[in-house]
Amino acid sequence: MGLRLILILSFLLSVAAAPAALAQDKGSVDPKPLPPLANPNDPKLGAKELFARKLLPAALPTRVIGAYTAGCIAGAQQMPINGDTWQVMRLSRNRNWGHPALVALLKRLSVKAHRDAGWPGILVGDIGQPRGGPALSGHASHQIGLDADIWLTPMPDHRLSREEREEMSAVMMVRSDRLDVDPHVFTPGHVMVLRDAAREPSVQRIFVNAAIKKALCREAKGDRSWLSKIRPWYGHDYHFHIRMACPPGAADCKGQKPQEGGEGCSAGDLAFWFKDSIIHPKPPKEPEKPRQPITLAQLPAACRQVLAAPDARQ
Ligand SMILES: [Zn+2]
Repeated sequence: MGLRLILILSFLLSVAAAPAALAQDKGSVDPKPLPPLANPNDPKLGAKELFARKLLPAALPTRVIGAYTAGCIAGAQQMPINGDTWQVMRLSRNRNWGHPALVALLKRLSVKAHRDAGWPGILVGDIGQPRGGPALSGHASHQIGLDADIWLTPMPDHRLSREEREEMSAVMMVRSDRLDVDPHVFTPGHVMVLRDAAREPSVQRIFVNAAIKKALCREAKGDRSWLSKIRPWYGHDYHFHIRMACPPGAADCKGQKPQEGGEGCSAGDLAFWFKDSIIHPKPPKEPEKPRQPITLAQLPAACRQVLAAPDARQ
């Protein structure tokens, strides 16, 4: 199977297979370190086992290597766990690392959420691991420090405790029939936060549940050009996913083509997502075979150096 096909498949499968639970996986205030690997050089070993054991970034200049669903990052920066207008959730996952431009973007967006939507701030979910790469749980993407999940629940007006950050659940935005948002929880503030995010020039696309896309199409007033960056995807009913384009000059970053095709608000654009087979998928007849994890050999060669480099001093 070609790398390209693997990438596409792994993206589709993983985003499809790990939907609603992402924001809801609870963590522990006392996470146990992963046991050492018996054979870290086993060529069949999932690269996720290696990347998950790196607790700090590589001491190398910032460099994005590979694609959203198959790559890694050197010189990632940590999103501080508290700011005036943001707090990071699920600290036990150690996934608040990203490209410095993404960290700056999230800080900027949090200020806009406060100013435009009146939220106290934003709750930041997974960004990426200290050296990017595949993770032991959750997403297939988030590998090169350019993806971030933001909760659709506004930040509370107080500093959350460590326990709350592991235990608190995000609020479900989609109505129980899955055909629209829940009007009791989805507010004009959500429209503004998503609009502000989509209007950032460095943002390549944003994933939300189709019911949220439908609501945005209905509510957006005035300039609607930002709607084109907002794409329906599986899950994403508790959080939205921001994806940045490759930063200028990042020669080893394999991005995606810019969005085509206007607002994406026509009945035809949305029809697929509201088919009964998509809203209420039938359980598979046979249990799915466990997939072979991506190995280090399937990632760009430079990711070996990123793994081998010493820890950056913080
Ligand atoms: Zn995500």
